[in-house]
Amino acid sequence: MYYTKDTILFLNGKFIKAVDAHTDLYSQTLHYGFGAFEGIRAYQTMNGVKIFKAQEHFERLKKSCALVGIPFHYETEDLVQIAYQLLSKNNLSDAYIRPLVYCGPNMILTPAQDVYLMMCAWEWDKYHGDNMLKLCISSYQRPNPNSLKMEAKVTGHYVNSILATSEAKVRGYDDALMLDMYGNVGEASGANFFLEKNGVLYTPALGHILPGITRQTVLNICRELEIPVVERNIRAEELEGADGAFSCGTAAEIAGIESIDAKPFA
Ligand code: PMP
Repeated sequence: MYYTKDTILFLNGKFIKAVDAHTDLYSQTLHYGFGAFEGIRAYQTMNGVKIFKAQEHFERLKKSCALVGIPFHYETEDLVQIAYQLLSKNNLSDAYIRPLVYCGPNMILTPAQDVYLMMCAWEWDKYHGDNMLKLCISSYQRPNPNSLKMEAKVTGHYVNSILATSEAKVRGYDDALMLDMYGNVGEASGANFFLEKNGVLYTPALGHILPGITRQTVLNICRELEIPVVERNIRAEELEGADGAFSCGTAAEIAGIESIDAKPFA
């Protein structure tokens, strides 16, 4: 469903068919989750196909690599150009773009020196569709920021998200809302979180969450429209008294939340 026999992807400087692309089974990324990636969307607009916040996403990809010590030296502008070429070669307009920086064979626990870039794209509907979401508070917490680089979008971090999502689905919910190690609200499995109370928006402060590009966009729009918005720690107990909430991220876009732990908002 992500590719057909005609799909083109970018691999290490060349555009090739996805069916002809191979990777090394001794890759450090495959064994230990040591790689970095991005999720980016493109949209058909009145001015042609535009990638949403392209610079910001590729800057974050470079920052993720730098934070964990993966040598990755592409220029942001070149990455943006590759992404546009990828869309055009695959005749895609409304699409999801996935760059992945992965490492070569290395079974020891220091960064591999062979680093590769793969970029692919596919058509992907809104991750949760248009329905309001039923969330549960996960039994899984976001990781201790002293154990990982929370600002990095690193492949291995997503075991946490997969565990939380799987638990939520088994319990009959659409997604998980994870708390941080102190019991403050963190984020959903792959999206940031906003709460509304008495006309003010609140979102968890940075530190225990991925600094989402959509989150930052929402903050910017609120400031432009003079909608009061506060970044601060949010206690789980505050959720019950709120007027509404939404999660936001590249894949999910903006997703309204109907209830948390089966308690609907007013
Ligand atoms: N938190 C997590 C854990 C995520 O995986 C994502 C998706 N990248 C987000 C938040 C939202 O980030 P963005 O808006 O940059 O997609």
